[in-house]
Amino acid sequence: MESALVKDNPLLFPLNKQKTLYDGFITVLDRDFRLRVLLPPDGQLKGARLHCCWELRRVLQGYEHIVKQRLQQSADLVTFILELKTVLEVGLKSRPECRSIPPPRYYSQLISEMETLGWGRLLFIDTEFRTLRLKAEDSSGRQHVLTVKLKSRSTLDQLHSQFLLVLESLTEFWDVLDEIDSKTWILEPEKPSRSDTMRRIAIGTNVSIKVELDPRHPKMLPECCLLGAEHAVTPLRKQLNANMHLWNPDSGVLLNLRDVLEIEFPSPATHEKSSFSVECGICYSYRLEAAIPDQVCNDPRCGQPFHQACLYEWLRALPSSRQSFNVVFGECPYCSKPITVKMSAQQS
Ligand code: ZN
Ligand code: ZN
Repeated sequence: MESALVKDNPLLFPLNKQKTLYDGFITVLDRDFRLRVLLPPDGQLKGARLHCCWELRRVLQGYEHIVKQRLQQSADLVTFILELKTVLEVGLKSRPECRSIPPPRYYSQLISEMETLGWGRLLFIDTEFRTLRLKAEDSSGRQHVLTVKLKSRSTLDQLHSQFLLVLESLTEFWDVLDEIDSKTWILEPEKPSRSDTMRRIAIGTNVSIKVELDPRHPKMLPECCLLGAEHAVTPLRKQLNANMHLWNPDSGVLLNLRDVLEIEFPSPATHEKSSFSVECGICYSYRLEAAIPDQVCNDPRCGQPFHQACLYEWLRALPSSRQSFNVVFGECPYCSKPITVKMSAQQS
């Protein structure tokens, strides 16, 4: 028995002549677990006591009853250790997070890295010491959060510097958007985040322009789409097409848009937002999930906006309406002038 035990577990030794006390490590899936076994004077396994290191206890969580049972039933220590290792292997495989508990130097390294970086930058760390959230500020003073999942070999300081470089490359993009956000009324997105590249800017009641910026070239002519009643949008569309060549990447996007469209954007300083956020004439709300009422009656005296989904359902329910492919032709619920609506992508 002795030789088999040593052969299978070269790191587990008897500490006394009576061989009632064993201490050392057992190895499972390339990991060593500290273990101490105390046998009663008669050497019977039934009365044995196990002392496990915290890692071992952690992996064996939920398997304690099996370990106890094996201890009662195994013929000798060799058999028991073999059984214990099988249970451990199962435990490790079912809990991948246990498999990779890092050595103590991982934590001391992390702490010294945090000292280099500055503790003030740490916003959050999880109980596994694996996921960190770090504060980062770009040169315009905007606050950002870097989430780090520690797997790579880079130090925190390196990661943080890399993140700052990425932030710097996006500074111009955010400068452009911050200017738009502060000087115009944004209809969409409702609460823009730093990753949103689109803005729908109010031009007038029921007229807006949707711009999609390229974060790498934020000052270039963005993708533009004019939205609203035909009578208001058509002249603007003509302006845009005629003046596009005047776009000057050296000046701001907002200034360029103003020059190209030959308009002044209503701003928070000059207008109330309520003058642009007119409710849908069918459901009487402004937001329907994320959608805003962007279908507008083309009759200049009416100009009532509707949600696409509301208008589509409304027209489809009326016997006087007619459908051709995905377009429904009917009458405006307000002024009875002809109105059409396309089936939106979600409804088709
Ligand atoms: Zn509606
Ligand atoms: Zn109408």
